Amino acid sequence: MPINAANGDFAGALHYSTAVDVLKSEYQRDGLDVKSLLDSDKRGGLTYNDFLILPGYIGFASHEVTLDSKITKHISLKLPLVSSPMDTVTETDMAIFMALLGGVGVIHHNCTADEQAEMVRKVKRYENGFILDPVVMSPTNTVGDVRKVKAEHGFAGIPITEDGNLKSKLVGIVTMRDIQFHRDDSSPLSEVMTTDLITAPEGIDLAEANAILRSSKKGKLPIVDAAGNLTALLSRSDLMKNLHFPLASKVPDSKQLLCAAAIGTREDDKERLRKLVEAGLDIVIMDSSQGNSMYQLDMLRWIKKTFPQIDVIAGNVVTREQAANLIAAGADGLRIGMGSGSACITQEVMAVGRPQATAVYSICEFASRFGVPCIADGGIQNVGHIVKAVALGASTVMMGGLLAGTTESPGKYFLSAEGKLVKAYRGMGSIDAMESQKSSDNAATGRYFSEGDKVRVAQGVSGSVLDRGSVTKFVPYLQAGLQHSLQDIGVKSIDALQAGVRDGSVRFEVRTVSAQAEGNVHGLHEFNKKLYA
Ligand code: GDP
Ligand code: GDP
Ligand code: GDP
Ligand code: 5GP
Repeated sequence: MPINAANGDFAGALHYSTAVDVLKSEYQRDGLDVKSLLDSDKRGGLTYNDFLILPGYIGFASHEVTLDSKITKHISLKLPLVSSPMDTVTETDMAIFMALLGGVGVIHHNCTADEQAEMVRKVKRYENGFILDPVVMSPTNTVGDVRKVKAEHGFAGIPITEDGNLKSKLVGIVTMRDIQFHRDDSSPLSEVMTTDLITAPEGIDLAEANAILRSSKKGKLPIVDAAGNLTALLSRSDLMKNLHFPLASKVPDSKQLLCAAAIGTREDDKERLRKLVEAGLDIVIMDSSQGNSMYQLDMLRWIKKTFPQIDVIAGNVVTREQAANLIAAGADGLRIGMGSGSACITQEVMAVGRPQATAVYSICEFASRFGVPCIADGGIQNVGHIVKAVALGASTVMMGGLLAGTTESPGKYFLSAEGKLVKAYRGMGSIDAMESQKSSDNAATGRYFSEGDKVRVAQGVSGSVLDRGSVTKFVPYLQAGLQHSLQDIGVKSIDALQAGVRDGSVRFEVRTVSAQAEGNVHGLHEFNKKLYA
């Protein structure tokens, strides 16, 4: 019987019990637990748009929400965001900024091994604690030599030792200021170098060395042993990078940025990986649209044996059966998705694949039993999709199209036919990308194309995406969006979200077609969808 306030029932009901007690004793929980939501026997596979997460209780501010998550068994990130190994998404700049902002970039392999290794090297050199292999010159090197280093590497702070090598007696330092207005490129550095140096002794810890660097007001701090030989260098700009990017994904000891790269599973990819490891690679992704193959299992075992220090992410997979083989062979992470990418036509052409939400849940639930973190790869169009992927168990998400329009992606902006500023974005299985693989002097990706193939069957398209500005604005927007979303759900971290999903306290609801229409802008004559300011 409805409660009637007019005849006094309302007060009586309150006296009898609080709403919370009534709720607990007389009702089932609103919404579905995750298992019921994704019961694919009954409903078929779901995509991110097919469901919503129900709100919980907000007992904290959104800035208190943390987003730390694992990308592999051994490596954690402060943000669960990864950029895709595609030639229109991740090269040096994207990899540097994704890592600075708290995620990680995966450098594509649609290029020669040397080109890819050079990109890895640049990411690894970008930020340092102690620079253990600084560029060093001798007093007889010239001003022109320093200018050359500046043009090639971007820095000009060069310690000068007697014989021009590390571990030789430090005699001076040259920086941009010493040569800026010097006209004669052939002058020896002995004429321009500063010899009155502030140094720190070998063995000093990084925090102490940083303190000396700060108070010295100089740009560089050379570290010397008892005999005055140069052993390392510290750079003031690294203190600024550390200050400006507090979430940066770094290797704890070296303070260098984390760098990941993709390779194929051919014999010559072993040589490619050797070069990447030499350049300082931390994580390798075996890039394949169907990862459950003898090629990938063999490669995985070889990498684990040859480079035990490198974490290996295997994939792509969309079923537990595929995942089990790779987990058993020692994968440190899995990449989930087949045909869900925005530039991808695999599901149409090959009739193979799986709706992404179902694939993510199915594999993450299984892989978590073995402590293997999973990347939800493809189909991420907005903040909500990231939250859903993570709620279904993914540790991180990988984005291609969403990042392709940023300043840090490869390529130049151009005007589309409608006069909008766009950048090229293409599937790595598009005819365009495969043609460029063929013309490259190294066999390149081979993800969708084998040497012997007479006809190339496209699994992707090529096109363009709208300008999105810099990732230095876009990634913090994704971060803030995720924090607000987790606040709405009532959880303070990704771990808490996933625990809530597991114990059934985080609830879901299926979204009908009309619910999807209701949840989008509707009924407006026109509107401007600006996402952040
Ligand atoms: P919203 O999600 O668009 O409403 O924006 P907010 O993230 O600012 O707020 C989420 C909820 O938390 C809302 O109910 C806010 O009123 C509440 N909220 C946010 N900040 C504070 C605060 O500092 N104090 C209180 N009491 N409530 C807050
Ligand atoms: P500089 O003052 O011209 O040396 O340039 P910056 O201080 O702006 O840039 C130096 C940046 O390059 C720092 O982040 C260093 O960690 C990094 N770096 C990497 N390798 C080297 C190196 O061999 N020498 C120097 N000077 N910097 C390096
Ligand atoms: P943090 O102070 O939160 O960065 O704590 P960490 O444990 O990461 O750093 C320990 C010490 O290393 C502190 O003195 C930091 O200032 C310093 N540090 C962190 N990152 C860098 C870096 O990239 N370069 C240099 N030179 N020092 C760093
Ligand atoms: P997006 O973020 O654009 O939705 O998806 C990016 C993902 O799509 C990539 O990380 C990769 O897994 C996948 N992908 C990239 N190129 C192709 C392609 O040509 N075909 C298919 N099937 N998938 C692709």
